[in-house]
Amino acid sequence: MNKPNNSSENTMVACPVCDHPETHYFVSKNDYTFNRCTECDFIFLNPMPNQDELNAQYTDDNKEIEPTYNKSGSRLRRAFIKLPRFLPYALGKNTLDFGCGGGFVAHALSFVAKSSTGIDISENAVAYAKQRFKRANYACMDFVQLLETTEKYDFVYSSEVIEHVSEVNLYMKTLAHLVKKDGYAYITTPDLGHPKVPQNITEWSMLCPPIHVQHFTKKTVDILFKRYGFKVVKFYKHKKPGLIFLSKRL
Ligand SMILES: [Zn+2]
Repeated sequence: MNKPNNSSENTMVACPVCDHPETHYFVSKNDYTFNRCTECDFIFLNPMPNQDELNAQYTDDNKEIEPTYNKSGSRLRRAFIKLPRFLPYALGKNTLDFGCGGGFVAHALSFVAKSSTGIDISENAVAYAKQRFKRANYACMDFVQLLETTEKYDFVYSSEVIEHVSEVNLYMKTLAHLVKKDGYAYITTPDLGHPKVPQNITEWSMLCPPIHVQHFTKKTVDILFKRYGFKVVKFYKHKKPGLIFLSKRL
């Protein structure tokens, strides 16, 4: 092995978003290292933990879920406040909350949709949703299991999920599998390109590996979603560093 001094293993990792072969060390936090793509500026953990390691955060002795449930009143209120925005795409349609957590949005959607389904990787979350919100249907499934299903949806809501997944291309493949042609996917994720992101990126609370394993901008979601047959039709304005966008399956 005769590598130049400025080379390291991580320079050899291709960009999962644009497939560019060159990505370089960007920043470290919590003993994890992010690479950045020289072509599209996507940042992602390298090495990337596998999904089993990441899932361990969302299963069994879940430390993430508890605070969520403590704020269940405000989560439920916010789910209903968001509802009018979804009406043009969800009214009388088959809807899915992909990564539904405690089922708050699936429950809200159940009042306007023809059918409302929530799917999550966390058994605890699904058990909570099933017990509390009986109007919607829930299932605990992973991407591979979902790819084996034949159910398609007119409207898929997936909030604060994409930044957590080990294989972003598997997530996208699953999303494309779940959304009907001419259907919509409504996605939210932290916005790396927002003016309010601190100049010293390590001070940004959303940069919190290994909970968030990658970070997007408007540019990188455009590239990624296009590759899976979606067109981003709208970015919603947001005062906080969060991307909220609607994409159509062409
Ligand atoms: Zn790239």
